[in-house]
Amino acid sequence: MTKRVAVLPGDGIGPEVTAWAVAALQAVGRRFGHDFAFAEGLIGGRAFDETGSPLPAETLALCRRSDAVLLGAVGGPKWDENLPALRPEAGLLGARAGLGLYANLRPATLHPFLSDLSPLRSAVTGGQFDMLIVRELTGGLYYGARGRDGERVFDTMVYTEAEVERVGRRAFALARSRRRKLTSVDKANVLDTSRLWRSVMHRLAGEFPDVAYEDMLVDNAAMQLVRRPGAFDVLVTENMFGDILSDEAGMITGSIGLLPSASLGAGTFGLYEPVHGSAPDIAGRNIANPAAAVLSAAMLLRHSFGLAAEAEAVEQAVAAVLAGPRRTADLARAGDMVIGTAEMGGQIVDRLKA
Ligand code: NAD
Repeated sequence: MTKRVAVLPGDGIGPEVTAWAVAALQAVGRRFGHDFAFAEGLIGGRAFDETGSPLPAETLALCRRSDAVLLGAVGGPKWDENLPALRPEAGLLGARAGLGLYANLRPATLHPFLSDLSPLRSAVTGGQFDMLIVRELTGGLYYGARGRDGERVFDTMVYTEAEVERVGRRAFALARSRRRKLTSVDKANVLDTSRLWRSVMHRLAGEFPDVAYEDMLVDNAAMQLVRRPGAFDVLVTENMFGDILSDEAGMITGSIGLLPSASLGAGTFGLYEPVHGSAPDIAGRNIANPAAAVLSAAMLLRHSFGLAAEAEAVEQAVAAVLAGPRRTADLARAGDMVIGTAEMGGQIVDRLKA
């Protein structure tokens, strides 16, 4: 059966890197005999220029008709003075909310052959690590009531048991598909929402006895990430803690051009995008690293289409190219040959065809 992918390239380097994510999926389709249909939509600054909205209704409708969404990046100085609701980023936030995407998956992987890119010493990283942060995306402090009353200003952190349970269940299932370890991060010594979080996680831990489970306070988690990153497999946490910890975990890999992400909703639907932004400083110059976008396509294969072997083939093709001496400028070291977006993407797709 044909699987439908909505492609939203967006702004800046978005279209340059997304083209290679699509090319990788096409190569996978040919090699493994799958039928993928792609349909492009507008989002972000370009959508604002062409339609007056950073998220045209037609784009949301296209996403809802599709089995998964592949997104590039949005934003750029051209639209910085737009009113908040008309900024490119509003398009992205609107898509995430409008599509009910409640679980954000951010893998942070340090490859042994790129271990010197990490700002941490190899004695700390052990030369490699591979963790996955699962962040609750539609609840908590960013969505609670807020307001200002003269001198007094407030934001509210609210969670329901059902909201905690659905993201917890995802995280346990993901841990089961990896190295079977789950760390739940909270602040249960202070916050009532965290005490609810912890009690729901403990109940779920009983349902997943094959997953080694631990609780960790968020301040300790921030320290342990830079002290022994290799000790983590899957981490699950609420919205704001996840926002901060996933950036910390990403940065200790040392390479923003390699970080993919997934945002999952009910069932198998999901939106997949690189962690990096639209990088206006290098846009249109064939400099950007397409690996994060291609690795996002691998996540799409795994989480929305249930095609684990195909996802691994994409990840292995990217790893093989990264291990070689010809890389984009963001990863280049003395002695390496610097290549462009198209050459890097071409190498990955050639390996996928082989
Ligand atoms: P950025 O991630 O776009 O760029 C940060 C730095 O990393 C830049 O020096 C850039 O050249 C480099 N970089 C990023 N991706 C790269 C890649 N694939 N290969 C090589 N180098 C890469 O973040 P920023 O500069 O803070 O933001 C630029 C614009 O992107 C802003 O408008 C911002 O709002 C937007 N943004 C969008 C998203 C998104 O669409 N999800 C995320 C972050 C920022």
